[in-house]
Amino acid sequence: LNIEIIAIGTELLEGKVSDTNTNFIAGNLTDLGFNVNYITMVRDNKSEMVKSIKNSLNRADIIITTGGLGPTADDITREAVAEATECPLYENREVREEIEEYFKNRKHEITENNYRQAKLPKGAVPLHNKQGTAPGILLDADNYIIISLPGVPPEMENLFFKEVIPYLKKLNPKKNTVIKFLNLFGIGESRLETEIDDIIKNSENPEITLLAEAGKVRIKLAASADSLQKAGNLIKNRENKIRKKVGQYIFGTDNQTLPEVVTDLLLKNNLNLGVAESCTGGLVGDRITNIPGSSQFFSGGIIAYSNKIKREKLNVPSKILNNKGAVSKQTAEAMARGIKKEFSTDIGLGITGIAGPGGGTPQKPVGLVYLSICDSYSQEIFQLNLNGDRQDNKWLTSQYAFYYLLNWLSK
Ligand code: ATP
Repeated sequence: LNIEIIAIGTELLEGKVSDTNTNFIAGNLTDLGFNVNYITMVRDNKSEMVKSIKNSLNRADIIITTGGLGPTADDITREAVAEATECPLYENREVREEIEEYFKNRKHEITENNYRQAKLPKGAVPLHNKQGTAPGILLDADNYIIISLPGVPPEMENLFFKEVIPYLKKLNPKKNTVIKFLNLFGIGESRLETEIDDIIKNSENPEITLLAEAGKVRIKLAASADSLQKAGNLIKNRENKIRKKVGQYIFGTDNQTLPEVVTDLLLKNNLNLGVAESCTGGLVGDRITNIPGSSQFFSGGIIAYSNKIKREKLNVPSKILNNKGAVSKQTAEAMARGIKKEFSTDIGLGITGIAGPGGGTPQKPVGLVYLSICDSYSQEIFQLNLNGDRQDNKWLTSQYAFYYLLNWLSK
């Protein structure tokens, strides 16, 4: 089955909004085993839209559009679909009632243009949109299928997962596809490729793809078989081979993040963490507290940016600050011990470094970071030499902090 995606919206062609929707849809469809052959971007201009839909109708079995389903005059996707398919619009009573209900629940006055959204091409059914008023449209004709989704990404994604995927799965030629991601940190994409080159080359099913993302690399395994269990076994077998080679870098699977894995371990071991952050400015604490229930394993942190705070709140000795400097192994160690003591935690983490762009010297260049972890029995110190910009350095330092914590907790 050939699929095409049409992204509708003048703002996309003017570069005012990045087209993330087609990326999302194409990625998910590929994972499901469909081929996306064309992606078109078109203005909110009816004749251009009709032309584009007709072109796609000549080539594709399934067309998915995003955008232009709202109530305003420039939202004309439904009219364009109706014209291109010669299925005139009709008012769907069920959608009309849903729109009225939506406004009633929010105690907002309904304006006449909202009723435009109840219009569907003849033969189409609505895809119910719980997050907004614009329903999606599914037109399943004899020799083509057109699915129109709203442009707002969360609304589009919600409809895509709830309505479109279950529908397409019924048509999917490779419906027994299992996908698994292995998430790695501490190894770059090219080294990873070298390490597992023979496994990748000898693997058609599962298909193995490497994906480099901010602060991590992912290995995607996609297997298809005549049953889900068989596809799962194919993945397991290949995963074991990969783990034998690069298992030490794999911190999690699928959507697991480093902070999640670390906090799971803190919780499991009933341990409490305190963080003393200088160059990361609270980023580690922020990422921990993004995890629900973090008060169970996170006491808190101090953003000790100035020497005064390092000295007064974390007890970093003046001698260390004067003789070794704020960015030094000794300061990071003292910060870790200081926060552990101050907050009476099981584990203390200290981070100090030069995020840039200024502040570097030949001896201590931008990107030099020290991290230290301690508990009541031992202490470790780590040095990083990063080369990103300020934001990258902060983010990567926080990734390393979680990575070192993970290794510490896994010992
Ligand atoms: P609404 O009911 O909000 O009008 P709609 O279906 O009419 O929804 P549009 O008006 O086309 O959608 O787009 C609404 C917003 O959604 C755009 O301003 C833009 O921010 C975002 N958007 C639209 N298309 C895309 C896309 N392809 N990728 C990412 N964001 C998009």
